[in-house]
Amino acid sequence: MATALGEGVGTRYEAVIGLEVHCQLLTRTKLFCGCANRFGDAPNAHVCPVCLGLPGALPVLNRQAVTLALRAALATRCTVHPVSIFARKNYFYPDLPKGYQISQYEQPLATDGAVELGDARRVRVERIHIEEDAGKLLHDGFPWSGERSGVDFNRAGVPLIEIVSAPDLRSADEAHAYLSALRTMLLYAGVSDGNMEEGSLRCDANVSIRSKGSTPFGIRIEIKNLNSFSHVRRAIQHEIARQSAVVEAGGRVEQETRLWNADRAETLPMRSKEDADDYRYFPEPDLPPLVVTPEWTDEVRASLPELPAERQRRFMSAYGLPDYAASVLTASRQLAEYFEAAAAACANAKAASNWVMTEVLRQLNATAADLGSAPVTPQKLGELIRMVDAGAISGRIAKDVFERMWASGDSPAAIVEREGLQQVSDEAAIRAVVESVVDANPVQAASYRGGRSAALGWFVGQVIKRMGGKANPQLVNKLLKKALGR
Ligand SMILES: [Zn+2]
Repeated sequence: MATALGEGVGTRYEAVIGLEVHCQLLTRTKLFCGCANRFGDAPNAHVCPVCLGLPGALPVLNRQAVTLALRAALATRCTVHPVSIFARKNYFYPDLPKGYQISQYEQPLATDGAVELGDARRVRVERIHIEEDAGKLLHDGFPWSGERSGVDFNRAGVPLIEIVSAPDLRSADEAHAYLSALRTMLLYAGVSDGNMEEGSLRCDANVSIRSKGSTPFGIRIEIKNLNSFSHVRRAIQHEIARQSAVVEAGGRVEQETRLWNADRAETLPMRSKEDADDYRYFPEPDLPPLVVTPEWTDEVRASLPELPAERQRRFMSAYGLPDYAASVLTASRQLAEYFEAAAAACANAKAASNWVMTEVLRQLNATAADLGSAPVTPQKLGELIRMVDAGAISGRIAKDVFERMWASGDSPAAIVEREGLQQVSDEAAIRAVVESVVDANPVQAASYRGGRSAALGWFVGQVIKRMGGKANPQLVNKLLKKALGR
């Protein structure tokens, strides 16, 4: 069975995928009350009559939540609607004390945007609406665990936006790329912390297949609550293969909601899909229509930073960086700003990009450090690059100096001075070493004189090694050629 799965994919069938991304907004307080919006505290530390849905409690809309939702809407180039309506989505679940969730339904905040994937592909965003999160069921790790489950309402009433993409994605990899681009953009815009482990970003995937070349969509399956990038990719891959196998065997895909089980690496049925009718949506009587004035929208637009796709294009045109480097360096706002500051400090963007992409990223990964508190500031990195460019130290020594900078936080000049690492450009000193190396290796010297040019590289290596890596390589080259007489 395992080999049969997926055989149809890539030949006869094509997948059609849309993502619904729930994103927690970085507000200080919840959407309709003054309780803290904070992850990780003791269960039910942040609750009040409003978010517990006690009778008579009235919601008051958090303005900052709307501002952040507007930032997301403008970053994805959606049309913001001057009036949107909150609606009650009615259903019963133990983590939903009111028996309904306040959301937006027929008139959402924003519609018709797009996310660029960086390589000219673009995924349409159908809508962005504001809603409140539900609480959370706790099944283990608590005093009552075993027979019973508990409910933590700290998350109840936390502000979310739901970003619904058009069914524009065609593979698990594309869905992964879209989610990654969307997350980067939300982080740049300061909308969310994007932390998938803590549930700040969660995703439902709608997946169907159809025969290649056909236009109508197949029956769509919704996979709920994917909370990591790898789960998104694996769940969609599995679902495409599963549906292909069903159709190949002459069966029919049934419309339903499924859950990804990471341990079993498969999607499992959860319930037959409910329609919007089941939720009995109606306008929320306790909240007036949300009015967003043009002034508010303009103010938010003006405060948005340069977003990843624009920044990537600018890095390519302004610094002459290749596509790949521009995409690596814009992967986070912090990294992009670090690179630009280093490039400005040394006026050598190409060298700065190489250093950031190799040594800086390697140290960050190795030490799990945060760029904001990295011991090598962009100014110090710029100083190091300037020293190489000026011939004060060799490129090889610069790598060692960088390591010491990272370990100590000292400036490159101080380290070079202290350790005596200055590049030696003294002709007489280099000539003495060159002559002794040539004299000590008559066989290699003869081979070079006999036409084996590669032997020169070997001599250069020997001289530089003898001089502790500090010899100026251009001078070594010049003097060796002279001494070897060819
Ligand atoms: Zn509350």
